[in-house]
Amino acid sequence: MYNYDVVIVGAGTAGTYFALLLAKRGVKVLVIDKDAEKDLAKRLDIFHFTSESFAEFNLEESKEGDPEFVSKFSYCYSRSALDNYEKKNFLEVHVMHLPLFIKRLRNLAIKEGAKFQFETTFADLIYDKDNRISGIKTSKDEEIRSRLVVDASGIPSVVRRKVSDPYIENWPIGPRDKFYVFLKYVLLDDPKITIDRSISWPYYKGWIAPQQSKGGAIVGVGANLSTDYARKCMKKFEDSIPLPKYTLQYEEWGATPYTRPPFSFVTDGFLVIGDAACLTKPMNGEGITSAWVQSTPAADVVAYALKDNKYPTKEALWKINYLYQTKEGAEFAGLRALLVGAVAMSKEDNDYLYANGIIFKSDDEEVKGSVAGNLIKGVLKRKFSYSALSKLLKASNTGTKLTIHYKRYPLTPEGYFKWKKKALSLWEKVGSMADNITDAEE
Ligand SMILES: Cc1cc2nc3c(=O)[nH]c(=O)nc-3n(C[C@H](O)[C@H](O)[C@H](O)COP(=O)(O)OP(=O)(O)OC[C@H]3O[C@@H](n4cnc5c(N)ncnc54)[C@H](O)[C@@H]3O)c2cc1C
Repeated sequence: MYNYDVVIVGAGTAGTYFALLLAKRGVKVLVIDKDAEKDLAKRLDIFHFTSESFAEFNLEESKEGDPEFVSKFSYCYSRSALDNYEKKNFLEVHVMHLPLFIKRLRNLAIKEGAKFQFETTFADLIYDKDNRISGIKTSKDEEIRSRLVVDASGIPSVVRRKVSDPYIENWPIGPRDKFYVFLKYVLLDDPKITIDRSISWPYYKGWIAPQQSKGGAIVGVGANLSTDYARKCMKKFEDSIPLPKYTLQYEEWGATPYTRPPFSFVTDGFLVIGDAACLTKPMNGEGITSAWVQSTPAADVVAYALKDNKYPTKEALWKINYLYQTKEGAEFAGLRALLVGAVAMSKEDNDYLYANGIIFKSDDEEVKGSVAGNLIKGVLKRKFSYSALSKLLKASNTGTKLTIHYKRYPLTPEGYFKWKKKALSLWEKVGSMADNITDAEE
């Protein structure tokens, strides 16, 4: 009755890597994508991948001479809003071409037996006689029967949004829930300047990073609401921070989810992964390896749930929720809440945090006293505003509560609705990055 054990919708980094993991476990898997193979992932060229991730996710390290390889750097720098302070953190990063990296993953998955079908658009779910998800229908009316359907379609979340089930939240990822990312590929006018590292200014959600052209760089910002607003934020960033003079090569646009993940990733016959599950890092919106953290144990759970031709019920898949939410989910929930409070402040307040190693801290920096004590000291010396202090303490307090709550994620579906009710009330207190925007209409 089934053509495949699993059909994955979306052949980006999330869907392709998950297909590789499943195929390695002997699962019969098909990945479909609406795009032609030659156009896949063309929306984004250069991306960053921490070097330790190759070993963590069992991939051979990309090296000079490989088609996807561009360069490597070892430190990330972050600077304060008034550009007075810099923090240096060790992080070895590979700079690579995304479409070629995905091609490498795809070849690995194909070698393990995974199948790929391009120019195939998901249209709807199909159900069996017991009303359980049992495959998909494409826009050409082709029916592909499978015991599990995986949504890896990125921000459009095309499958998750069609699921009608109390365990699945089918909201769209709207303009307030994502960052529009505006990248300028540029050539620096001064040939003596080389951008060989990533420097970010979190206050502006702006950065400068290396790219493949000699003497080139990428200048980027991320902003909620719209591409127009992102363009405006880019101007504000460049008016405030003295970047090296440059000539524009071309612009690139993208978007990354910036909201909490759904509370459950699974229900009967269904799993959501990657950007469709909003698994991006709260600190910078990167989403490739943070999504793979969920995929790695999920592949074991799925392979086991499908064993002996069983149908993968939500009970059998639930461990995917539990393992993710109690670890990375708990950490990111707390951090996301804290960051919403940390960006709601003036440039002077932001500089005070940098000056005193609060939140923004170099690896080798020793900070005396507690965070709260140092913030209160700043208020008493009139170097840090009371309103920023109260927002930050509130955000930190809610963040801590969220982390604790996520660590208590229910082991089985039974406790889910009670857990969800409390989680919702905590998230209501957090609000969104978009709540801090006051100049959108200026
Ligand atoms: C400008 C920018 C820079 C970034 N830089 C980094 C970085 O340096 N490091 C990092 O880790 N992350 C980075 N990210 C985030 C990262 O790119 C994403 O988190 C990641 O690519 C998401 O992968 P995905 O497979 O979940 O989704 P996607 O890459 O969006 O893939 C989804 C796939 O589903 C297909 N699809 C959609 N609808 C359908 C349909 N109806 N039927 C069939 N197929 C469909 C699409 O064609 C697409 O191929 C960046 C994001 C942006 C925008």
